[in-house]
Amino acid sequence: ADFSALGVNETLSKSLLEKLEYSKPTRIQRAVIPTLLGEDKDLFVQAQTGSGKTLAFTLPIIQKLMDASDGSMNRKSGIFAIILSPTRELASQTYEFIASKLCSACHWIVPCLIIGGEKKKSEKARIRKGVNILVATPGRLADHIENTDNLDLSNVRYLVLDEGDRLMDLGFQEDITKMLNRLDKDYNPVMTKNLQGSLPKKRVNILCSATMKETVQKLGEISLTDAKLITS
Ligand code: AMP
Repeated sequence: ADFSALGVNETLSKSLLEKLEYSKPTRIQRAVIPTLLGEDKDLFVQAQTGSGKTLAFTLPIIQKLMDASDGSMNRKSGIFAIILSPTRELASQTYEFIASKLCSACHWIVPCLIIGGEKKKSEKARIRKGVNILVATPGRLADHIENTDNLDLSNVRYLVLDEGDRLMDLGFQEDITKMLNRLDKDYNPVMTKNLQGSLPKKRVNILCSATMKETVQKLGEISLTDAKLITS
C-alpha cells in the first residue's frame, strides 16, 4: 500500500514521493496516519526513533490544517498545534522536517521553533507576527507561557509529546503540567477563524515514547484522555 491508501491527500503524497522519496509508509505510519485522519482520539504511541514516527504524527496534522483552510487562512489564524521535544536537537530536526518538507506544499502554514539558547526576543517577534505550529522544548515554552503577552493558545487542537520517556527523564513534568493547565484554561471551542469543520472539536493529545516505563505511564495520566494505544 502507498500513502494515498491511508487517506493522505494528493498534494502531500506527491511531496513525500518527490521531496523525500518515501513511497511506502512504515508500520507505525500505517497505524497512526489513518487513525489521526479518521478520528479525534488521544493516542499513546509506542515507537522507537527510526520507526518513522515523526512523519506519522506531523503529516495528519498538516493535512487536517490543509483541509480545514477555506483559502483565507494565514499565519494570523492561530496556533493549531504544539509539538514538544525533549531536546533542542530533536526540536530543530522536527521543525526542519515540517518547514522544508511537509509545509512546502502548503504555504500558509507557518511553523515556529521555540528552544532554549535562541534569542527570546526574536522568538517573541515571530510569535507576534503569527505562527500556526509551535515546535518547542518544554522549558522555553513554559517561559513564553509565563512571560510572552501575546501567546494565544486558545486554538490549539493538537498536542504532541514526543519521546515521552526522555521528557520525563529530563525533569520536564512540571513545565508540561503548567502548559497543560494553560491549554485547558485558554481553550476556546469557537475558533478565531471558521475552519470548515474539519479540525477536531476537542484537543487531540498524542504521546510518543520508545518505552512504556512507569514515568511515561504517569505522563499519559496527566496528558491523555481515553487514549488508544498503538504499538509498533
Ligand atoms: P523517525 O523515526 O521519525 O526519526 O524517522 C526515522 C527515519 O526514517 C528518518 O530519517 C526518516 O526520514 C525516515 N523515514 C520516515 N518515514 C519513511 C518512509 N515512509 N520511507 C522511508 N523512510 C522514511
